[in-house]
Amino acid sequence: MQKASIMPDSIEQAAKLLAHAKTVVALTGAGISVESGIPPFRGKGGLWEKIDPMTVAHIDALENNPERVWNVLIKDMKIKLDNAKPNPGHTGLFELERLGILNTVITQNVDGLHQRAGNRDVIEFHGTFARQRCMDCDKCMDTSQVDLSTIPPVCTCGGILRPDAVFFGEMIPHEALINAQRAAAACDIMLVVGTSAMVQPAATIPFIARDNNAVVIEINPEPTPLTSRISTLLLMGGAGTMIPRLVQQIRNQLETT
Ligand code: NAD
Repeated sequence: MQKASIMPDSIEQAAKLLAHAKTVVALTGAGISVESGIPPFRGKGGLWEKIDPMTVAHIDALENNPERVWNVLIKDMKIKLDNAKPNPGHTGLFELERLGILNTVITQNVDGLHQRAGNRDVIEFHGTFARQRCMDCDKCMDTSQVDLSTIPPVCTCGGILRPDAVFFGEMIPHEALINAQRAAAACDIMLVVGTSAMVQPAATIPFIARDNNAVVIEINPEPTPLTSRISTLLLMGGAGTMIPRLVQQIRNQLETT
């Protein structure tokens, strides 16, 4: 078993590896958006400290009582997402793409902040809150065009609208699953940022990378189940601090090579 290094020189080591990598993929989770004011599900300040996930974030809850799920989870989440802006973690990942280092972002987030930061190849593994989908006719529309004066909001056909995002108990959109698995298998470094690695099947993505000989580098204030199993380095801290530091180190590396 391999143990991730959490020594102070980890950033320098990570920068060296990244500066020489051919293909880099980032897998991000709720943690990268914490510094944009969006709480994660698990961990300190997480939503699950207040709500039982199975009563609001499971597909059965949505189908049985959409009004409650809208009132308890979706409405509040939507207000937070509407007010959120990309933070230095997101802009740092865009900077890595601009430097020609980062190829693809696979995100479990539904907040659209990677695209707003500028990243172009973003796989939305769990869908997005930017669209709403009719539970009857499947028509999709931009959330900004949805009349939220009635909860739950309704489609022109009269069906109830729901976020075009994956609830517990639902399948991952086929294209996102295939594209994420392909990207993971093809990278030589996977940066795993702000995910507890507890949600399946997203948590298997770093294992696909590792099984194909990629180096796994985590950025998280806490160790995760990946840390002692497959990560080579853990850059321990918030994404908004660690990613800009990493970008700066990579610039230094590139200037001296
Ligand atoms: P999670 O809530 O299970 O875990 C959050 C992780 O982020 C933890 O490991 C925590 O230590 C870490 N973290 C906390 N602050 C951080 C920071 N400043 N920088 C870096 N890391 C930090 O998150 P998950 O693994 O993504 O799984 C939760 C699911 O909930 C995902 O599927 C996602 O779709 C959904 N979700 C999305 C959002 C969003 O779109 N912003 C927000 C909440 C939940």
